[in-house]
Amino acid sequence: MARQSNDTWNLATSVGATATMAAAGRATASRSDGGVVNDPFAEPLVRAVGIDFFSRLASGDLDFADVGTGWLTDFFAVRARYFDDFLTNAWQAGVRQAVNVASGLDSRAYRLGWPAGSILYEIDRPEVIDFKSATLTTLDAVPTTVLRPVMTDLREDWRAALRAAGFDPAQPTAWLLEGLLIGYLPTDAQDHLLNDITELSAPGSRFAADYVLPTSEFGSDMRTVANTWREHGLDVDLSSLFFEGQRTDVANHLQSQGWESHKSRLRELYNDAGIDGAAFDLVYDETAAITYVTATRRHS
Ligand code: SAM
Repeated sequence: MARQSNDTWNLATSVGATATMAAAGRATASRSDGGVVNDPFAEPLVRAVGIDFFSRLASGDLDFADVGTGWLTDFFAVRARYFDDFLTNAWQAGVRQAVNVASGLDSRAYRLGWPAGSILYEIDRPEVIDFKSATLTTLDAVPTTVLRPVMTDLREDWRAALRAAGFDPAQPTAWLLEGLLIGYLPTDAQDHLLNDITELSAPGSRFAADYVLPTSEFGSDMRTVANTWREHGLDVDLSSLFFEGQRTDVANHLQSQGWESHKSRLRELYNDAGIDGAAFDLVYDETAAITYVTATRRHS
């Protein structure tokens, strides 16, 4: 079913299921030899959601290669590593306040070694945050930073919810948007989000995201993947989750709004993670045109 501007979901439906998919990817990547990412919470979180296809992937009963998408294990590994490194660099620059925008089943609050004095805000819909918190509690997982959940919808006034949770716009912030700006927000909501983040960003703030270029074929490529998975037993429709329309080039937009931005392609992420990109099918880097951006808010 096509997306609606006011639609809702949980972790087993609609765009919520993509958070379960991403966590299944991290579970798979955590089992592979490279040691690029280690997310011990991904598998139990995915299994708790209960989408059989993703549970089997997360537990290793099924491999991405068995369902025609073997490239995804390394893709999810290097993507997670890129955002892990982004946070490490922000901490090294002295940033102590972070916001994970559309945090899904991300477990960085639990699996990374956060510096003393750090605080992390996680924004997602209430159904997603409630489920993750409850499941991690049953696993006796303990956050390694001060963790403040912000249950809201990014198409609404999320800034008020963030500030009500204690966010301090006077402090530099590390903003992390992993797997969101790839079509999951309406185009105008995405632009508003970037502008709102800019307004809330003190000088020295950091930003990292993956996004699709205005000309990207990512939506149609992901529809192909989703349909292949359906043939292999996935009973959730992931093929029609993207809002259509011309999108801003995120890196260029930030650059024009007082940020110093830097774009990377998937091939560079493989190299940085020490994985020989040439050995893998990087066709999606070229055709889907996912771009990765980090940015730092200028001082003047
Ligand atoms: N960042 C996480 C990761 O990489 O594992 C989750 C990414 S998942 C692909 C997309 C996430 O975006 C989901 O958790 C979904 O709930 C969230 N999301 C999408 N649209 C949203 C909205 N309008 N408001 C709040 N969250 C939203």
